[in-house]
Amino acid sequence: MRRDLREAQAVPFFTSLMSQKKAASDRMEKIVSLCKRRGFVFQSSEIYGGLNGCWDYGPLGVELRRNLKEFWWRRMVRERDDVVGLDGSILMNRQVWVASGHENTFSDPMVDCRNCKSRLRADQLPEKNGQKQCPVCGSFDLTEPRAFNLMFKTFVGATEDESAVTYLRPETAQSIFVQFRNVLEVSRKKLPFGIAQIGKAFRNEINPRNFIFRSREFEQMELEYFCFPNQGFELLDYWLKERLRFYADIGLSKDKLHVHEIPPDERAHYSKGTYDIEFEFPFGVQELEGVAYRTDYDLTQHEKASGKPLEYFDEETKSHLIPHVVEPSAGVDRTLLALLCAAYDEETVTDEKGKSETRTVLRLHPRMAPIKCGIFPLLKNNEELVKKTKEIVELLRGEMSVFYDETGAIGRRYRRQDEAGTPFGITVDFDTIGENGPANRDTVTVRYRDSMEQKRLAIADLPAFLREQIT
Ligand code: ATP
Repeated sequence: MRRDLREAQAVPFFTSLMSQKKAASDRMEKIVSLCKRRGFVFQSSEIYGGLNGCWDYGPLGVELRRNLKEFWWRRMVRERDDVVGLDGSILMNRQVWVASGHENTFSDPMVDCRNCKSRLRADQLPEKNGQKQCPVCGSFDLTEPRAFNLMFKTFVGATEDESAVTYLRPETAQSIFVQFRNVLEVSRKKLPFGIAQIGKAFRNEINPRNFIFRSREFEQMELEYFCFPNQGFELLDYWLKERLRFYADIGLSKDKLHVHEIPPDERAHYSKGTYDIEFEFPFGVQELEGVAYRTDYDLTQHEKASGKPLEYFDEETKSHLIPHVVEPSAGVDRTLLALLCAAYDEETVTDEKGKSETRTVLRLHPRMAPIKCGIFPLLKNNEELVKKTKEIVELLRGEMSVFYDETGAIGRRYRRQDEAGTPFGITVDFDTIGENGPANRDTVTVRYRDSMEQKRLAIADLPAFLREQIT
C-alpha cells in the first residue's frame, strides 16, 4: 500500500481526517492558484483546454527551475573532482530500451472502472473491507489489472513501420550507461566516479495528478556513481546523506523530509538497496527522490546486447570488471513543488493605521528565489530617485535577477514581491539622494521578506551583502 494511504488510515477519527484533508486540499489549491497568478506554472496549451499531465513554467517558474538545477549541478558536479557531466539525446536507438528491460517491463498495472469508465492505477486504489474501490465513483466493479507500458512510442524517419519505432526516454540514466565507455576514455577517471545528467523524461502516466507532482513530461537530475562491487553499500549510505544535505541547503527542513528504506520484496529486481527520500506534501508523504544501488545490472545488460565491452580496467589488480553503480535520481518538478509547498505561508499583519490584512509570502531560500531583490524608488515622479534606483539595478543585474518596480504604494510593491518569494526589497528614498543631510547619502533601506525588518546599508555594500545570502 502506498504511504499516503497508510498514513491517512492511521488517523483515529474520521472527522479529523476529513478536516485535515480539507485543509490540505485548500492549501494545495492556494498554491496552484498562486502559481498561475504570479507566473510560476501554467497549464500547457491552456487556450485549447490544456493537455493532461503537461505544464509550462512562466517567468518566475523558469527562474526557480534554473536556480534549482544550477545548484544541483554545482553540488553534484562542479564542487567535486569525481563527477563529470553528460547531456544525452531524448531519442535513442530502440535497442537501448530492449536491453534495459523497459520495452518489456516498464509498466504500471492498470484497471478500468466498469461503472464510470475511469482508467486507474491498480496499485494506488483505496480499499474498503479488503476490496479495491474506484476513487472516482466508489464502485467495486473493476476489471482485472493489466500491464500498461509507460513509454511514449514514436517513429524515426518517414516510414511509420515497426523498424522505425523508438520511444521518448522515460529516464535519463540509460544514456549515461550507454556512453559509459566514451566518458571513461575522455575523462580518464578512476573508480569510484560519477556521470551526472539533467534532462527531460517522459512517461505516459495512467493518472497524472497532484499538479506538477506526477506529470507526463518532466525533468530529472540523475547521477550514476560507478564503483567497485565492495563499495556499493557504503556509497548508498554516503549518497543518501549527501542528498539530504542538498535538500537542507535549498531550504527543505528536516522535519518535512522522511527516508523510507524500500523492503527487499518491493525493490526493483536489480537493486540491492533503495531509499526513497520523501517529502510531506499537502496531499501526503510522497517520493521526491530515489537513491538506489543498481549493482552492475545496466552495464551488463548493455554489454550483452550491444556486444561492445563496457568494462573498466583496474590498474592495481590488472583485471577487468563491470563497475557497480549507485544512483541518486531526483525530479526537478517534484522538488520545485516541494519548495513551493514548504515556502507558502499566510500571516495576519497589521499596518500603522491598525488595519489587519493577510500577507501571503513565499519563504523560499534566497538561493532558490526567482528574483533576489526588488528595487524601488520611493516615488516614481522624482527624477533623482528614479535615476539613483536605476543605477542600483545596473550595479546588481550582472550578478543576480532583480526587479525594478515604481508603481503603487511602497507597501503594495513589497507585498507583490512577498508573493513572488523575493527575499530582499531595496528602497531608494530622500536620505539616499542626500536631501536629509549627508549622513545617509548613498545608503538605502533593505527590507527582509520574512521578518519585514528593515535596515540601512551603503549602496557600495549591497553586492557583497546579497552575494553572501544567495550563493
Ligand atoms: P513514482 O513511484 O512516484 O512513480 P518512480 O519510483 O517511478 O516514481 P523513479 O523512476 O525512481 O520514480 O524516478 C526518479 C525520480 O523522477 C522520482 O523520484 C521523481 O522525482 C521523478 N519522477 C518520476 N516520475 C515522475 C513523474 N511522472 N512526474 C514527475 N516526476 C517524476
